[in-house]
Amino acid sequence: MRAACASDPVRSRGRRRPQPPAPPRTEFQRDRDRIVHSTAFRRLVYKTQVFINHEGDLFRTRLTHSLEVAQLGRSMARALGLDEDLVEAIALAHDLGHTPFGHAGQDALHACMASHGGFEHNLQSLRVVDRLEQRYADFDGLNLTFETREGILKRCSRARAEALEAREPGGVGRRFLDGTLPSLEAQLANLADEIAYNAHDVDDGVRSGLLSLEVLRDEVPLFAQLHDAAARGHPALAQDTGRRWLYETIRRLITAQIDDVVATTAALIAERAPPDADTARRGPALVRFSPPMREAATQLKRTLFRALYRHPQVMHTTARAAAVVHDLFQAYLAHPEEMRPDFADAPNRPRAVADYIAGMTDRFATREHHRLTGRHAFE
Ligand code: MG
Repeated sequence: MRAACASDPVRSRGRRRPQPPAPPRTEFQRDRDRIVHSTAFRRLVYKTQVFINHEGDLFRTRLTHSLEVAQLGRSMARALGLDEDLVEAIALAHDLGHTPFGHAGQDALHACMASHGGFEHNLQSLRVVDRLEQRYADFDGLNLTFETREGILKRCSRARAEALEAREPGGVGRRFLDGTLPSLEAQLANLADEIAYNAHDVDDGVRSGLLSLEVLRDEVPLFAQLHDAAARGHPALAQDTGRRWLYETIRRLITAQIDDVVATTAALIAERAPPDADTARRGPALVRFSPPMREAATQLKRTLFRALYRHPQVMHTTARAAAVVHDLFQAYLAHPEEMRPDFADAPNRPRAVADYIAGMTDRFATREHHRLTGRHAFE
């Protein structure tokens, strides 16, 4: 059953360029379809999060990550009576603005853009769907609904929000100035993102050999508890030489978190009973973990950060990836004709260079780097 505070596609604040409806699809389903057909979405398959693409074929890419976020988000939305399609659209689009090479690439690009307004990946995702995709005769971008765009812009600096507000009064920048919240669906997509990456980074981390089960058990009591629970139900698991025990643990970890968010959020929605989506936007945040699960998720995040993201081997690749982005930025700034013509001719050159680099896959960036510098970045 649809919750009163769910986003209703019939009452959407609409698109910046009004378009007639396209039944039987709702406006949010239509957003999702536009995202799935975009070029930026296809590129996600060759963009990485923690591990660079050539390190192994089985690690998550941003595409598989986005699909996992969408799937977790839909499950929770259904249980809560929120709009599944809106959560799905936001989840599938949330990483469209990510640079190649995960966070390393993004930090490097932000540093390169320091004196040109910086680089924020959430804002870049919005820029992709608002401007950079070119598939329609009548407008740039995908012309998505306000609700999907609002969810994509998860974070935004005040300076950027003011610039957005100047261009689009009362638009998606407004809430960062008012201190209000995005829709419950956007809040849900955000939490689904955290649940997805915590779980799959445990999987990828252990697979890579950089993260040990001992460290996870020592530092994350919830992990130890679920690891034991899996073996209790299936004593043969402890003898299994494969990875079933880990998978059984990760499955329980995801289920525990999903169940916790659904129970906590359902209770909060029942208690506050916001009569519509806009009232829910005024806060407080209703989509959340219970305090003990929040603590467990934060413990897990801290362990992943210390033991995996800051592992010397990951840091080594990260430093090389950052150098690739830096070198590309300098090369294109000096020789814009090396970019695709529509970027080469743009009036704001640093921004065009950032857009061009942000759109690259890991592979393309590595190849361009070799072409322009003659160096092999990852050897
Ligand atoms: Mg994400």
